Amino acid sequence: MPVFKRVLLKLSGESLMGQNSFGLDPSVISKYAQEIKTIVDLGVEVAVVIGGGNIYRGMNESETGIERAHGDYMGMLATVINGMAMQAMLEKLGVYTRLQSAIKMEQVAEPYIRRRAIRHLEKHRVVIFGAGTGNPYFTTDTAGSLRAVEINADVILKGTRVDGIYTADPEKDPTATKYETITYKECLEKNLRVMDLTAFTLCMENNIPIIVFDMNKNENLKRVVMGEKVGTLVK
Ligand code: UDP
Repeated sequence: MPVFKRVLLKLSGESLMGQNSFGLDPSVISKYAQEIKTIVDLGVEVAVVIGGGNIYRGMNESETGIERAHGDYMGMLATVINGMAMQAMLEKLGVYTRLQSAIKMEQVAEPYIRRRAIRHLEKHRVVIFGAGTGNPYFTTDTAGSLRAVEINADVILKGTRVDGIYTADPEKDPTATKYETITYKECLEKNLRVMDLTAFTLCMENNIPIIVFDMNKNENLKRVVMGEKVGTLVK
């Protein structure tokens, strides 16, 4: 039996690049869709927030010459492209989905309506939240935390390329060890960057646990929802 009834899965845009240096790798999206289907089949209600960093990041005005807020809107549109790709792959597998966008674009996505999103989840449709929070100066991690709070998710599952939170960067420091569980407070004190501070604070203030885990390992997502000790739990 799954230990969670409703989860919010946060995937970074960059993870969708696979081996490419830009854009989407269909084989990665297809694999992630398969992993998501596995937990939908277990009866878990799944909401997904995907980043946009594989296509556009608005934050580096000095490099692009594009004003921060303007670039941030471009970044939010990028997340919709990723959301549409994920939607297509999920539906190919027979999973019912809805894409809701925080920026209105009715030809491709429903507008974000909280109560409607919850209704879709109750009907076991995967709800993909696109366009971040709809506001510049935020990240999709913050969008993930915000939506998780709004829909009363039991947990945020942050799928990454590493298998949890370490005492130091494991790629640079061979003595780094992994935390199985850690408190919000310890993360802040030790300056472990699980998410940006806005996103992290939202989780902490609303007591939403975060599980950081390796999304690239087969069936890891399923293990997480079955309550196995995978990755790091922040609570
Ligand atoms: N973004 C934004 N507001 C939001 C979410 C995202 O302005 O609520 C913009 C921001 O420019 C960000 C880009 O969209 O750099 C892509 O999102 P993010 O960097 O979070 O993607 P990820 O790192 O997960 O790929």
